[in-house]
Amino acid sequence: MSLMAGVIAVQGDFREHAAAIERAARAHGERAEPVEIRSSGTIPDCDLLLLPGGESTAISNHLQREGMGEEIVTHVEAGKPLLATCAGLIVACRDAGDERVEHLNLVDATVERNAFGRQRDSFETRLDVTGLEERFPAVFIRAPCIDETGDCEVLATFDGQPVAVRDGPVLGTAFHPELTDDARIHGLAFFESADE
Ligand code: GLN
Repeated sequence: MSLMAGVIAVQGDFREHAAAIERAARAHGERAEPVEIRSSGTIPDCDLLLLPGGESTAISNHLQREGMGEEIVTHVEAGKPLLATCAGLIVACRDAGDERVEHLNLVDATVERNAFGRQRDSFETRLDVTGLEERFPAVFIRAPCIDETGDCEVLATFDGQPVAVRDGPVLGTAFHPELTDDARIHGLAFFESADE
């Protein structure tokens, strides 16, 4: 059986994410069929969902306008996995202190947009991530920092600040896990349960 993997394709590296999902599925002995999603109606059929980075204001406006935001919330409420990266995490979290972003409130955390970007626009570092044996090559691009976490698990920190969190079926990263060949974050989000 092939899992239907919805990649929200409003902005960002949706093709790289689709390829990473396929690689992660293979590594776990599963099969996944990525579909690019730009409007409502397909999300309810998806087994797993990915919300990529980009510009969080534009992404959240598109999701609300197209009625996709509610569908994503329903997906997560049904216990199905969502990986939200960078701007995707900004949209998925509780608050980013920017009224132009409409939040899905799926990750019990607040973030600050472009917080790492102010220091260095983009950079790569190797992170210890809970659940991964070897360090993960994480690429940060005008990344948010996670400044307050509520009822969610911090999976990785950088400079003492959380940069990867898990809230039930949702895994959120401040970095871009799709920009290297390493698909282990996608594997963690979609093919390994939180208890493993
Ligand atoms: N700076 C972007 C935002 O705040 C996020 C950047 C990214 O997704 N790489 O929306």
